[in-house]
Amino acid sequence: MMNDVLTKRQLKNLMEFWQQRLYLNDWEVVLKLVDDMPENTQGNANWSLSNEQAIIKIITLAGFKKLQTPFPYQPEVILVHELLHLHFAPLQVPAMDDEEKADPRSIAQERAIDHIAKALVYMRKRAKNNQKRG
Ligand SMILES: [Zn+2]
Repeated sequence: MMNDVLTKRQLKNLMEFWQQRLYLNDWEVVLKLVDDMPENTQGNANWSLSNEQAIIKIITLAGFKKLQTPFPYQPEVILVHELLHLHFAPLQVPAMDDEEKADPRSIAQERAIDHIAKALVYMRKRAKNNQKRG
């Protein structure tokens, strides 16, 4: 798999698409691309549930390369992952700051969100490719 190189404009368009698909239209979300993220993370979301406002940060390709992970850069997966966190926010599962001490619920939630995000992006891309062929 190759790195996905997306401009901020393209990511913002994808954010509009996914906000609609995920029924998160009521949320006001600010998207930021950053070169540095704490703790080897690739994205994060800070939200205010009562105001339905959030700031989503996604690592840039340059920042991602510094993490030296063998996996490809998939900013759309990171984006959908962070958006899905907004749906889970009312459950108030503790944040997964330290993986070793993390609450089992945080680990389970994190895995579920990650798998759902990957599945959704995979299906969108597949649908798009089928459209091109058909
Ligand atoms: Zn997460």
